[in-house]
Amino acid sequence: MLVGGPASSLTDCPFSYFDGMISVAFLGLGAIGNPMARQIAQEKEQFTLAVWNRSGQKAADFAAKIGARHASTPADAASGAQFVVTCLPTSADVEALLDGPTGLESGLEDGAVLIDCTSGDPTTSKRIAVRLAKHGVGFLDAPVSGGVAGAEIGTLTVMVGGDADVLKRCMPVMEAFGEKIVHCGSVGSGHALKAVNQALLAVHIWSLGEGLAALARAGVDPAIALDVINASSGRSNSSQNLFPQRVLTRAFPRTFRLALLDKDVGIAARALRELKVPAPLIQLTAELMSMAHRELGDEADHVEAVKVIERMAGEVID
Ligand code: NDP
Repeated sequence: MLVGGPASSLTDCPFSYFDGMISVAFLGLGAIGNPMARQIAQEKEQFTLAVWNRSGQKAADFAAKIGARHASTPADAASGAQFVVTCLPTSADVEALLDGPTGLESGLEDGAVLIDCTSGDPTTSKRIAVRLAKHGVGFLDAPVSGGVAGAEIGTLTVMVGGDADVLKRCMPVMEAFGEKIVHCGSVGSGHALKAVNQALLAVHIWSLGEGLAALARAGVDPAIALDVINASSGRSNSSQNLFPQRVLTRAFPRTFRLALLDKDVGIAARALRELKVPAPLIQLTAELMSMAHRELGDEADHVEAVKVIERMAGEVID
């Protein structure tokens, strides 16, 4: 049993009520943050939850419909919370949220842990971890994969960077929305791994789009092409799920913004440059994602990047 008293290290928990209800704050109720927070909210016997969102109405609606305390500021959300989860577009947004008299830093309590589920960047995360450690606050980068659909049913994969003992303390919170929770290494390693995964997603979408446009020009029905590819070595999540469900149907549902994939591949490209690993394919893919983002705008879904390929090729993949 964990007991009260000041934290002697970041792996100790100073909250005397740790063996009772676990107090959590969730900041960032976007496309994926909202269903993640809902997974926590529905475990009413285990967690008390405070929510905060930049546009306050989303947090007010969540509090009213799902059940949580609507916090007025980031500091208010963090006040009394053992675990604070952030899920914002970028690490820069998380870092900025710390600032000021109503910022997160002024509300986080000694012994609390900030679990950052943003798909962020390793460099900023390391800076945040050092800043929070001065207050006895732990930090984990914990980006997720599995999409909105996975968040809706609590089966996300969580890739975690940071102290293994701090992660152990955070497991009940992460298990509310995650099924596979993997310790990847020190702070920043979760973000690095997520960025590389996203670069692979972008490569798969773009290369499959080019291939299917060419096959359409050659007179091969894209549905037949996908059927064969999915029984062959070129298959991927893009060929098995994204293209059949979203491109061939022309449904293009908006679940994960292209702007965010552009950001992710940019993080991967920058990290690889900093590590001095030659990566011409990922650098080029980052440029292609930026181009598609500029052309289609901030609200387009990531799979809509295929529309740019179709425009360039003069072929529709349907
Ligand atoms: P959304 O764009 O849907 O939501 C972003 C959230 O962050 C909103 O709550 C928004 O508030 C808030 N926000 C934006 N800018 C700021 C800021 N400067 N300060 C404070 N709050 C801000 O993004 P998602 O929910 O899709 O993505 C969140 C993170 O999760 C991203 O890093 C993304 O890459 C990652 N991710 C997303 C997945 C998905 O399928 N959607 C899958 C896996 C990871 P407001 O409501 O006011 O706009």
